[in-house]
Amino acid sequence: MEGRTGVTILGSTGSIGVSTLDVLARHPGRFEVVALTANRDVDGMLAQCRAHRPRYAVMREAAAAERLRGALAAQGLETTVLAGTEGLCEVAALPQVDTVMAAIVGAAGLLPTLAAARAGKRVLLANKEALVMAGALFMDEVRRHGARLLPIDSEHNAIFQCMPPRFDRGLASVGVERILLTGSGGPFRKTPLERLPEVTPEEAVAHPNWNMGAKISVDSATMMNKGLEFIEACWLFGTGPERVEVVVHPQSVIHSMVRYVDGSVLAQLGNPDMRTPIAHALAWPERMASGVEPLDLVQVARLDFEAPDEARFPCLRLAREALRAGGTATAVLNAANEIAVARFLARRLRFTDIARVIETVLAEVPAREAKRLDVVLEADHQAREAALRIAERLEEGG
Ligand code: NAD
Ligand code: MG
Repeated sequence: MEGRTGVTILGSTGSIGVSTLDVLARHPGRFEVVALTANRDVDGMLAQCRAHRPRYAVMREAAAAERLRGALAAQGLETTVLAGTEGLCEVAALPQVDTVMAAIVGAAGLLPTLAAARAGKRVLLANKEALVMAGALFMDEVRRHGARLLPIDSEHNAIFQCMPPRFDRGLASVGVERILLTGSGGPFRKTPLERLPEVTPEEAVAHPNWNMGAKISVDSATMMNKGLEFIEACWLFGTGPERVEVVVHPQSVIHSMVRYVDGSVLAQLGNPDMRTPIAHALAWPERMASGVEPLDLVQVARLDFEAPDEARFPCLRLAREALRAGGTATAVLNAANEIAVARFLARRLRFTDIARVIETVLAEVPAREAKRLDVVLEADHQAREAALRIAERLEEGG
């Protein structure tokens, strides 16, 4: 009998993590959950350990790891508990693990995701921020260590499904003329512009089609999510920005498209449920059931498209500018965005000030070559400090 595929889920208590466990639990003969990780949600992790019996559980916070250890022992569960970034990197590289789901949110996911790439794993990438921060470095490590990178972001997974087999030879040489990156436009696509400064975190995270973590939901509302995905697409598919076009598609039924030189446009469609790209990447190159409802096109009835409104969504322009500036500029963009979004969620910063913080930080922190990890991490750190300072000034009404 062939052995089961060993899986580590980085960020198992989050939205993507829970969807991944749901898919894995449908195929117990095929996959084995080896390790689960979380930041500090001990109760969530304890429940997951009870249900999935992983060999390892990692809590990034040491105090949380200690509490989890006690709780597991009290219930007679044999999961080994590790802590900190070292623990996260360790379970990303275990020999009995074939596949690593990278589903930590933000820059915190970079080191463990890199550890998975360096260990030559099949890396299922949801943590787009890792690629935005350190795309050149990350793609280098993937190649050098023979890792297999499969996109989980629904758009990039759709693009991957519409690409010809050897797209890694260069898009032009396989006849691909354009990547059409679709986005819903988020909850504020039609909100009167003068209302935007007053919108609340509750309104921002209430996405019309997708149910996601708080940070990516705010990113969708500012369309920074599409900006990050634009950068992500360039790295994943080895192309410059001139071959990527953003199209707003409010129904989120088409998850993205690829246009070929002969005029063909291939699209991937499905209900907006992350279990489809997750199951696709877990089973690739095979297919397996995901639990997603079949798409009912008669019910959908119509598909609409429009150009993105860059005056309403300045984050889209900022992401493009950072990509053009190159080097550490995209790490600076990402760090400033993380700080600004956290301050908005804490009700300290206004929604429209998110873009102002990012624009000011990009102007202040110089872009450098991003060939070394320490340079990228230093840029991330510098940008966070600048963003905090600028956010505080705006919060005081300056
Ligand atoms: P989430 O907030 O629901 O979950 C995040 C997970 O990461 C949790 O398990 C949390 O414990 C862990 N985590 C948070 N901070 C951490 C830290 N500092 N150190 C270690 N672990 C930490 O987020 P999500 O919506 O599941 O998104 C995860 C990633 O997937 C993001 O990069 C997001 O952009 C991407 N993504 C999500 C969706 C979606 O539908 N949710 C779709 C596409 C891409
Ligand atoms: Mg997406």
